[in-house]
Amino acid sequence: MNKSILIIGACGQIGTELTLKLRELHPNECIIASDIRQGSKELMKSGPFEVINALEYESILAVINKHKITDVYLMAAMLSATAEKFPEKAWELNMNSLFNVLNIAKEGIVKKVFWPSSMAVFGPSTPKENTPQFTIMEPTTVYGISKQTGERWCEYYHKKYGVDVRSIRYPGVISWKTKPGGGTTDYAIDIYHQAILEENYTSYLSSETKLPMMYMDDAIKATIQIMDADENSIKIRSSYNLAAVSFTPEDVASAIKKVIPNFKLNYAIDFRQDIADSWPDSIDDSEAQKDWGWKPSFNLKEITLNMIQNLTETYKNSNV
Ligand code: NAD
Repeated sequence: MNKSILIIGACGQIGTELTLKLRELHPNECIIASDIRQGSKELMKSGPFEVINALEYESILAVINKHKITDVYLMAAMLSATAEKFPEKAWELNMNSLFNVLNIAKEGIVKKVFWPSSMAVFGPSTPKENTPQFTIMEPTTVYGISKQTGERWCEYYHKKYGVDVRSIRYPGVISWKTKPGGGTTDYAIDIYHQAILEENYTSYLSSETKLPMMYMDDAIKATIQIMDADENSIKIRSSYNLAAVSFTPEDVASAIKKVIPNFKLNYAIDFRQDIADSWPDSIDDSEAQKDWGWKPSFNLKEITLNMIQNLTETYKNSNV
C-alpha cells in the first residue's frame, strides 16, 4: 500500500520545507499539508492543503479518514521564546496536539507518527558539553517542560500500545525560505537577513553564547531518514539527540565577514539569554548515528554561504 502523509503545522518554518521535500519524493496527492493558517505562496500551490486545528481531535480525524493517511508529522507547537509569554497556551497546544495524534495512532488509524522534540528538554543541571543522550534533564522553560513531557508520553504510547512514534531533538534550525516561529535561536537566521539588508545586527544573545544549530536541509534529511528507517532500528522511543554544528554569535559574525567584510555585530541582551544559558553548548548524537545512520552535511561556512546566496537572491527578486 502506498504511503499517504499528513503534515500538521505545515506552514511553519520546518513544516514548509518538509512538505516541499516530501512532495519531491512522493506523488503530490499523497502529501497533505495542513495548518490553522495559510502558508507561503510556494507551499500553497505545491499540492493539497486542509485547514486543521491540532487541538481538535475530530478535525484531525476527518482529514485522516478523507485522505486515508498512513503517516502523520505533527509540526504544530508554540516555540520557546513565545511560550515564555503564554505559558498555559503553550502547554495546551504542545501537549493536547500530541495526545490527539497519539490517540489516533493508538486506535490503529495511522501507522506512523513523527513528533519533534528539542534540545530544550535539557536544563541548567545537564552537562553542557557533548550532552549525552541519557542524562539529567531538568528543563526550566515552559517549552522544555512540554517537550520533555511529550517525550515521556511518546515512549509510553510505544511501550504500552505499540504506537510507532519516532522523534528527534532538533537543535536550532537555520533556514531562508520561511521566517522562524519565535524560538531562542532565531538570531542565527535574523543575523543573515540584517547582514544583507543593513550590514549590521544587534544580537539579543551575548557574544560567547554557544548553542547547537543545524541547517534546514540537514533537519529535513534527519526527519525523513528516521521515518524511513526500519522499525526495529529505532531503539529510542522518547527522542534522539541530533547534532550538526555549535557556534556563538561571534562565530557567525566572523563567517559573515568573510563574505560581507563591513558587517558589524552589536549586542542588546534580553530575556532569551536566560533560556539559551539553560541549554547545551554541544550535543552527542552517537545513538542516532548508530541506530539509523544519521550524519550531518553542513558546517558553519557552508550554512553561511547558502544563507547569504539564497537570501540575496530572494531580496533581489522582491525588490527590497
Ligand atoms: P513554527 O512556529 O514555524 O510553525 C508551527 C506551525 O504550527 C505554524 O505554521 C502554526 O500556524 C501552526 N499551528 C499553531 N497552532 C496550530 C494549531 N492549533 N493547529 C494547527 N496548526 C497550528 O515552528 P517550527 O520552527 O516549524 O517548528 C516545528 C516543530 O519543530 C515544533 O514542534 C518545534 O517545537 C520543533 N522545533 C523547532 C526548532 C527550530 O529551530 N525551528 C528547534 C527545535 C524544535
